[in-house]
Amino acid sequence: MIVRFILTVLFFFLAYTVLNAVLRILMSNVPTQNNDDEVDQMVQCEYCSTYVPKNEAVRKKLHGKICYFCDAKCLKEYKKQGGKEA
Ligand SMILES: [Zn+2]
Repeated sequence: MIVRFILTVLFFFLAYTVLNAVLRILMSNVPTQNNDDEVDQMVQCEYCSTYVPKNEAVRKKLHGKICYFCDAKCLKEYKKQGGKEA
């Protein structure tokens, strides 16, 4: 009887451990959308094609699409050129 009890406890313990590990793996594969991720992400300037860190880029919504510029000057020039914003 005691052996059966120990086996049951052991089974639940193992099941719990495996479930925990599987959950952790699943969680780590889910792409996080917090701001910390943006720090390392590079975006291309729509005007001069320079790559800039996303958190430093100038963000502007044009035609329902988020466009990035390395600075306000590029945004200005892009708009001056006609850009795609008419
Ligand atoms: Zn630029």
